[in-house]
Amino acid sequence: VKGLKKDFSVRTRFGAPKQVVKAINDVDFSLYEGETFALVGESGCGKSTTGRAVLRLIEPTEGRILYNGTDLAELGPRRLTALRKEMQMVFQDPYSSLNPRKRVGEMIEEPLVIHGIGDKKERTLRALQLLEKVGLHPEHYYRFPHEFSGGQRQRIGIARALAVRPKIIVCDEPVSALDVSIQSQIINLLEELQEQEKLTYLFISHDLGVVRHMADRIGVMYMGRLVEVAPTERLFAEPRHPYTQELLAAIPAAAPGEGKLRRAPLGEMPSPLHLPPGCAFQNRCPHATERCRGEMPVTRRLDESHEVQCHLYDIGEVTA
Ligand code: SF4
Ligand code: MG
Repeated sequence: VKGLKKDFSVRTRFGAPKQVVKAINDVDFSLYEGETFALVGESGCGKSTTGRAVLRLIEPTEGRILYNGTDLAELGPRRLTALRKEMQMVFQDPYSSLNPRKRVGEMIEEPLVIHGIGDKKERTLRALQLLEKVGLHPEHYYRFPHEFSGGQRQRIGIARALAVRPKIIVCDEPVSALDVSIQSQIINLLEELQEQEKLTYLFISHDLGVVRHMADRIGVMYMGRLVEVAPTERLFAEPRHPYTQELLAAIPAAAPGEGKLRRAPLGEMPSPLHLPPGCAFQNRCPHATERCRGEMPVTRRLDESHEVQCHLYDIGEVTA
């Protein structure tokens, strides 16, 4: 993903002139085969928009998405459809991502129909196998979504994503809508499936606990920018960006009874409509200087696996 940008035009009130929100602002990252790369950040930071742009569910304003060297924007509709088969999505809310009037089996088969895979009998067989693979029962084939719990519905969503044997799955907050007890079941399932099906995950979450467990590498997003990227343990041990440091400090302590935030919650995010010049984190950053208020920091590579976008790190190679 190179130089990805997505602008949205919004009206703040009826009749007001349209204003531009830079939902994704010059984001670069790589996704390596077989890994889980997590995008984390508070709601509105652009992580879901990035996931959707990668799948071209939304059209980026600018930037390139290369898949094994092929620029997705340069593909014709037929090749794009073929390639889409290799990239699927698991959505946050299993309640709203399933059609209430369709039977479960039909929903799982739908991507196979779209991509013209197999005949009816083969598709049914595949759906039955998938139900089993995600921990449901073949008899669930004829049921409707409302007959299932949240966790079961997410299993259906996962079965549906797997139907066309994708290589990459964008998981957009796949457990955020679920009870904590159910979350770990779904996370374990995603991990098992990754192993079995050799999947690559782009894992979008605001939950650092989940991300620490799941991800090989983490990218931290703030106000549409990717401000730090590092391998998971490295990020937790040596967070470099002041925003990452704040996020980690705000994680609830693990011990029972110490569940409250260790520090005061993070300050307000600036309005995306009125971003100040310079670094977008300046109003919350304890290290902000005059330079931060006038000049946007570039992304620098501290070593081969750790990148940060902050004026505090003026050493290291500038990326892209
Ligand atoms: Fe803080 Fe400046 Fe770094 Fe932004 S560039 S995070 S304001 S020190
Ligand atoms: Mg989101």
